[in-house]
Amino acid sequence: MKLHEYQSKNIFAKYGVPIPPGRVAATAAEARQIAEELGGRVVVKSQVLVGGRGKAGGVKLAKSPEEAEELAAKILSMEIKGLPVRKVLVDKAANIETEIYLGVTNDRAARKPVIMASAAGGVDIEEVARETPEKIIKVHIDPLLGLQGYQTRDLAAGIDLPKEHWRAFGKICTGLWEAYYHSDATLAEINPLVITAEGELLAVDGKMLIDDNGLFRHPDLAEMRDLDVEDPTEVEARKYGLSFIKLDGNIGCMVNGAGLAMATMDITKLFGGLPANFLDIGGGANADKVAAAFRLILSDPKVEAVLINIFGGITRGDEVARGILAAMDEVKPDVPMVVRLVGTNAEEGRQLLADANMITAETLADAAKKAVAAAKGGK
Ligand code: GDP
Ligand code: MN
Repeated sequence: MKLHEYQSKNIFAKYGVPIPPGRVAATAAEARQIAEELGGRVVVKSQVLVGGRGKAGGVKLAKSPEEAEELAAKILSMEIKGLPVRKVLVDKAANIETEIYLGVTNDRAARKPVIMASAAGGVDIEEVARETPEKIIKVHIDPLLGLQGYQTRDLAAGIDLPKEHWRAFGKICTGLWEAYYHSDATLAEINPLVITAEGELLAVDGKMLIDDNGLFRHPDLAEMRDLDVEDPTEVEARKYGLSFIKLDGNIGCMVNGAGLAMATMDITKLFGGLPANFLDIGGGANADKVAAAFRLILSDPKVEAVLINIFGGITRGDEVARGILAAMDEVKPDVPMVVRLVGTNAEEGRQLLADANMITAETLADAAKKAVAAAKGGK
């Protein structure tokens, strides 16, 4: 789950990271009000879950509350990379002298979290990472020991940070690490971390990604989810307890079990199709859940055939088949359906489905071939 800038910065602040004073607004009038309260120059910032807002014109400085209102109105009517702007953050503007990059993420290859810093922070950090990766200093963190003082000093030295800022920088690194660790995050990033003309360090931008699998431990974070900006099919899937990821292909896949779902996608590719989704309907395929799964798959106009691959263990094959039939009755799909059903009472299940004019298969390879052929046959 992605968090907005204002949400991320508020979390960072709880862990002792200094952020500029400011608040979020949903209307231009509110933005003006906040600017009046803050006084002086403010920065009006679109809250959308994509990077590069500055370059897209979604971050603007205002000298007066009137200007803040004007800019907020303009930004609130924008779309940035296809996403509508529903809120703006109005922050007291910082007098920026230096922009530093600071981020914590998981280094899968090293099997450890890593903290990264660069003196070349700001809006071009992706280019820095691509062209001059040596300008990004990395230090791995032992998750049991946490970030150590000598490690933040190594980072500070690595980016040639003037000595007078080391103490403040160390505190910010520790705060960012703690925020990452205690939130079950997969990314916690400050870009830019600025040094102001007054000689202070300040997190001007913030970004966090939270591991969805850790969210049950953080109801306060789960509540921050912004449904407005997520794929509606994935929102719907979560409601029914289905694991659904939309992809680009033409074969809809409905499978029980994550491993089997991945194998099904691979086999589909092997026989010349492309999966339209990843979907794990989990155990106990009742008609409600199956119907929800059908609706999700069929809401994608690219889907030309559906491949249903069910391994009946505790759930009996005939029950699964009845569930599928009840769901089809409700959803009335207009694309060919291929079912591979194995396990307890599979024979009875297959018979029920064949009687209902569904294409049945005994092996996964056979099912994938039939689905690909059915898709080519068109609707
Ligand atoms: P991003 O483009 O989505 O990464 O948005 P940022 O919040 O990082 O803002 C982009 C750029 O706008 C920053 O790198 C700064 O150069 C500039 N900026 C953001 N906030 C301020 C501010 O308070 N004062 C000044 N002078 N510039 C700012
Ligand atoms: Mn930024």
